[in-house]
Amino acid sequence: MDLKSLIHEVQDFPLPGILFRDISPILASPTALHAALDQMVAHMDLNDIDLVAGIESRGFILGAALAARFDKGFVAVRKAGKLPPPVEAMSYDLEYGKATLEMRAGQGRILVVDDVLATGGTLAAAIELCGRAGYEVVNVSVLINLENLNAMRFRGEPIHAVLTY
Ligand code: 5GP
Repeated sequence: MDLKSLIHEVQDFPLPGILFRDISPILASPTALHAALDQMVAHMDLNDIDLVAGIESRGFILGAALAARFDKGFVAVRKAGKLPPPVEAMSYDLEYGKATLEMRAGQGRILVVDDVLATGGTLAAAIELCGRAGYEVVNVSVLINLENLNAMRFRGEPIHAVLTY
């Protein structure tokens, strides 16, 4: 199944000069969603994972779908101020300014997922936050890796993605 052909490319969104890749058509197709979820975990042994951490907000959709499909728990990694206390927090630099991610403390072997990996700042912060919050990050997966914007690696390997640009 050609998942790439389903990605909707939107010029100048959310800011001028940005080419936004909209994954909505994949989510809207039962067969494409099924294929995307399977391919997101094709590189790992699912027996090694207890929980899936999804990054706000499209990472929630994919992360919760993966958790339900493969009988794992789900943990939300949220933008600051959305979760009730107590939370662990992790701030990181954006191109302009700073952002903070938060999650509840817990334990278990966790897979961290998001829809799109661009510069890598969000995913790197989420991985570090999961560790601080008590989880063991055993794997990482994204639907789309914009490899020209990052050289990110996890345990020495490029970040696993279903689609790369
Ligand atoms: P980064 O921190 O890697 O620069 O940006 C990744 C975050 O921004 C992800 O949470 C992702 O959802 C969002 N993002 C950046 N570019 C795109 C894009 O082209 N399409 C979508 N759907 N999300 C994007």
